[in-house]
Order: sequence, then structure tokens, then C-alpha cells
Amino acid sequence: LLAADGSVAATIFAEMSALAQRTGAINLGQGFPDEDGPEEVLEAVRRAISDGVNQYPPGRGQRVLLEAIAEHQNRFYGIRLDPEREVLVTAGATEAIAATILAYVQPGDEVLTLEPFYDSYAATIALAGGVHTTVPLRSPDFQPDLDELRDAVNERTRIILVNTPHNPTGAVLPRETLELIVELAHTHDALIVTDEVYEHLTFETPHLPIATLPGARERTISIGSAGKTFNTTGWKIGWVSASAEHITAILAVKQFLTYVNGAPFQPAVAVGLGLPDAFFTGIAATLAAKRDVLSAGLLRAGFTVSRPAGGYFVVADAAPLGFDDGAELCRALPGLVGVVAVPITAFVHAERRAGYSSLLRFAYCKKFELLERAAVQLAGLS
Ligand code: PMP
Ligand code: GLN
Repeated sequence: LLAADGSVAATIFAEMSALAQRTGAINLGQGFPDEDGPEEVLEAVRRAISDGVNQYPPGRGQRVLLEAIAEHQNRFYGIRLDPEREVLVTAGATEAIAATILAYVQPGDEVLTLEPFYDSYAATIALAGGVHTTVPLRSPDFQPDLDELRDAVNERTRIILVNTPHNPTGAVLPRETLELIVELAHTHDALIVTDEVYEHLTFETPHLPIATLPGARERTISIGSAGKTFNTTGWKIGWVSASAEHITAILAVKQFLTYVNGAPFQPAVAVGLGLPDAFFTGIAATLAAKRDVLSAGLLRAGFTVSRPAGGYFVVADAAPLGFDDGAELCRALPGLVGVVAVPITAFVHAERRAGYSSLLRFAYCKKFELLERAAVQLAGLS
């Protein structure tokens, strides 16, 4: 986790946001929205602060949020949860991931993820002394090959860590793949951990939580976050839902990571989770339109572009423009066209970089006018 000179190695997102700030370039690197979310949610946090909700909340989270998470899972997916025993509020999905991995992974245990993978997976698996194994997602559709998936799971696999919709590729895993993961988890007695922070941001098919598949529920730990749904990435309210036994194990770790977090934000997120269906379908429709604006701009600029089925990001291949080194291009991009992106190589193991070297991730969770401007500027590349 340290850089070669002994300093803390900045995450790729922090590095690219700093680059955007330094150069004044349009920041399509780090995934965060540039607009506030629903006013009801913002008003609720102001009210909570005025009402004195400013001290440590209960260890599992405030009752009103635990209930709202349980109701939300039931409303959208028919998953019935006991809010007192089967839900846990965390400091973002990031803490949920870390606490889950630290709770279950012993040195030498394998954790299987898709590759490219979200950066905190690799870091927390390393902190636990685990072995990080992967199944590759390849351009252009970024779906795992089912035989490769089968071959990647064995008796050392403690956790199969799923992420759908997927960061950074925008892939949404189909039922068939999720069913195979459940089957493999049974065969090899592995746990399934599913990172569903983009659950409400799917554009083609409704989100399918793996926990709803037959035989999955008891061995699945589901992770969500308010950040992407309510444009509140800085509030760091996430959650875990799982059997009472799993929640107890994860809480045992979580209490010594952050203890508790975000007292006034918790009731506000509860308000958000209770918003009408139209809110949730609305955010997905708007984001799909933003995806289309940026994708069209990237295509016009000469990139080959994948079509994300969900999430915040589009992957573009710079090879047709004559660029083979995405990391180098990302460093040069602010100077060339005033735009910041993230190289996909930041999401893969060093020895796997070759297969991803010309790919860049662009965030489209931004205002339409910014995306239009980015599209115009990017055209300057060809
Ligand atoms: N998982 C994925 C796939 C993400 O993209 C992110 C952040 N964008 C997180 C987890 C972290 O979520 P949070 O900000 O709630 O910690
Ligand atoms: N998850 C966001 C992304 O993928 C950023 C989160 C972070 O900076 N750690 O860009």
C-alpha cells in the first residue's frame, strides 16, 4: 500500500482528481456526480442536525435506516430482512467490503473477483493476507467466460466477490452467470459477497441481486451504498444485508474500524430509500442519456467504445487513435484536450496490464453541458 519512496500511494482516483484540479481539465476520472441529489434527502439531513442527531448512533445503525434498508430490499427485490439482525450500516460500501473481507479471509484463503476490479478489493484482500484470484473480463462486452469462471473456483476459495453493475466496465452480469456463481459457491463451500452500489443505475435490464437466486441467500453477503443513488458520495453511508450470523461476524470487525458513522446522514438516507419508484427509474433514465452523450462524443473522437449496461463509467479504447499506453495518455490528456480519465490498467494486476493497456475509463455521472463540452474537446485528439 506504500509507494516506492515509502509515501502513501495515492489511489488512482485521488491522483486523477488532483491532476484535474491542477490543470483545470474536465474531471471524468473519479466517479462522483457534479449535482446534488433529491432535495427531500438534503432537507432531511439539515433537519437531523438541527434536531440534535449529532452523537454516536447505535452500532448497527439507526433503527429508521435499518428499517428503510429492509423495506427497500423487499420493495425492489422481494428480499425479506429482519432489520434488527440482518442489516448493518457501514461507512460507505468501502467499509462494508473491508469489514467483510477481514471477517472471513484468513491468510492464504483465496478471494475470487472479476478483473478489472475496484481498487479496494485488492487492498483489503492484501490486508487480510488473502490471495486475490481473478476471472478476466475482456473487451468489448466484458462478460466472464463461464468455463474460466468454473476453473477459477476451488476448495481454497473462501469468497467469490461479485460486482454488478460493474466498475469500471459497466457490465451487468446476466442470470446465467450469477446462477453459475451460486452453484460454484455451493460446490466449493464459498461465500458470495456482492457489491451492488450501482443497483439503481441499470439501463437495459432491471438489477438482479444474486441473493434472490435459489440457494443463494444463506451464503450471500450483499453490499449497498447511498452514494450513487442519492448523489451523496461524500456522506459515506453504506450497508450490508445478510443472515444474522454473517452480520454478527462483520459487525465484530466493523466496530473496531469506525465503530459507527454519519449519525445525521442516516435518517436522511432512510428518507431517500423511501422515495417513490419514479425517482429510481428517473435517475437511471437520465444517466442512460448521459452515457449516450459521452459515448457518442468518444466515438466521434475516434475511440472504440463499449456500451455500459449500468453504472457510472464507459470504457473507451484509444488504440484506433494510435495510443497504446492508456496510463501515459491519461497523464497527457489534460494537456492535449483538457479532459481527465482513468486508465483501466489501474484496475488490474500488474502482470495482466498488457491486455488492457489502451483502455480508458470515462465517468458520465456529470451534467449534460459538461459532457457535451468534453465531447467537443476530445474531438481534438484525432
Ligand atoms: N464499490 C464500487 C464498485 C464502487 O464503484 C465504489 C465507489 N464508487 C464503492 C464500492 C465505494 O462506495 P462508497 O463510496 O459507498 O464507499
Ligand atoms: N468509486 C469511485 C470511482 O470508481 C471513486 C471512489 C474513490 O475515490 N475511492 O471512481
